Amino acid sequence: MKVIVDLALCQGHSVCLGEAPEVFDVIEQDDGYPQVKVLLENPPEALREKVLKAARYCPNNVITVLEE
Ligand code: SF4
Repeated sequence: MKVIVDLALCQGHSVCLGEAPEVFDVIEQDDGYPQVKVLLENPPEALREKVLKAARYCPNNVITVLEE
């Protein structure tokens, strides 16, 4: 599984961090919105449910999960 985030559309809501803190962090920016940082681009299977929830609940719908 591979996690891709469209940073241009991320507005730092931190829903992803709440659902899967092993995979996502949210970093304050000097200008503009906080932005997600993907900590694990290829998360282990054990985190699949959490990653899928993060993608589903991201308010901006900017998290894509690819199967590899
Ligand atoms: S929930 Fe979506 S918009 Fe919010 S920080 Fe995470 S990726 Fe960005």
